[in-house]
Amino acid sequence: MKPIPRIKFAHLPTPIEALPRLSTLLGGPRLYVKRDDQTGLGLGGNKTRKLEFLIGEALGNGALTLITAGAVQSNHCRQTAAAAARFGLGCILVLYGDKPTTHTGNLLLDQLFGAEIIWTERTHRDELLKAIFEESWAQGKRPYLIPYGGSNPTGASGYSIALQELLSQTGDNCPLSSPPDWIVVASSSGGTQAGLTLGAKLFNYVGKILGISIDEPREALTQKVSNLANQTADLLGEKFFFHPQEILVNADYLGGGYGVVSKAEIEAIGLFGRTEGILLDPVYTGRAAAGLIDLIAKGFFKPEESVLFWHTGGSPALFADKYAPLLV
Ligand SMILES: *Cc1c(COP(=O)(O)O)cnc(C)c1O
Repeated sequence: MKPIPRIKFAHLPTPIEALPRLSTLLGGPRLYVKRDDQTGLGLGGNKTRKLEFLIGEALGNGALTLITAGAVQSNHCRQTAAAAARFGLGCILVLYGDKPTTHTGNLLLDQLFGAEIIWTERTHRDELLKAIFEESWAQGKRPYLIPYGGSNPTGASGYSIALQELLSQTGDNCPLSSPPDWIVVASSSGGTQAGLTLGAKLFNYVGKILGISIDEPREALTQKVSNLANQTADLLGEKFFFHPQEILVNADYLGGGYGVVSKAEIEAIGLFGRTEGILLDPVYTGRAAAGLIDLIAKGFFKPEESVLFWHTGGSPALFADKYAPLLV
């Protein structure tokens, strides 16, 4: 694998924990969790692994300002803002959606990390992002643009390495004595699943990786994940080719769309909280866990299999005014 720049700041390896009470309650396969909600940076989450490589590239390019975009309660934006602070970079966040009257959850944290926030509508976000980038460049801010969710080949590399980390953890001193039969993960901009998919090939993981789609139909997401996995392989100088049909995505849990909390998410969040003391989030892991629970109920996994839920973080959004009142 060709080395690419990386700045290490995440708290790694993240723990793997068994979920014995939840496994018993659901009566299905043995469940485990990989705690990427505990990556350390500004309350953690999956974007931190991507940011180790994105910041590595940004600093290598002499960047002075990070620019990225996301929804109002974007975990990606919050972790990017924290990383910018940590490395003395400026941070401009382009947030889309209804500008809230109170600043809670991730939006509060964005501001505590000193990010400049620019509001837009979803339909205008790409143009605005381009205009802000050009303006920042002209002002000598040396901007570095991070795509939605940090999902480009540089960012996705973080999840190829994460798969190697997982395999190195399994064994005698880990709750998981051998690699899990399944990895189940929330999948949206695709970088996490693409990185894991490539990592599986690079490091000979033979289990299955199932992405629970958060906001896209199956075909669109498998296409996105396979493209990104191919581009990431190129970046790392590896010759692998992934076809969309090799990518496992379940898009049965899209509900009312991105960020629309329904009974399924509320139940999953409550169940993980009450049974294992683990916080999920209303947008991503709540939905993915709801999918996991439903798939177990339907007998999708064999009882003797092991299933690792790759926790991607997001719990600060639980404290957002938009979500908190719905959850209890
Ligand atoms: C961004 C995010 C995801 C989705 O990861 P992608 O790499 O964009 O597919 C899942 N869970 C949480 C909590 C996130 O913030």
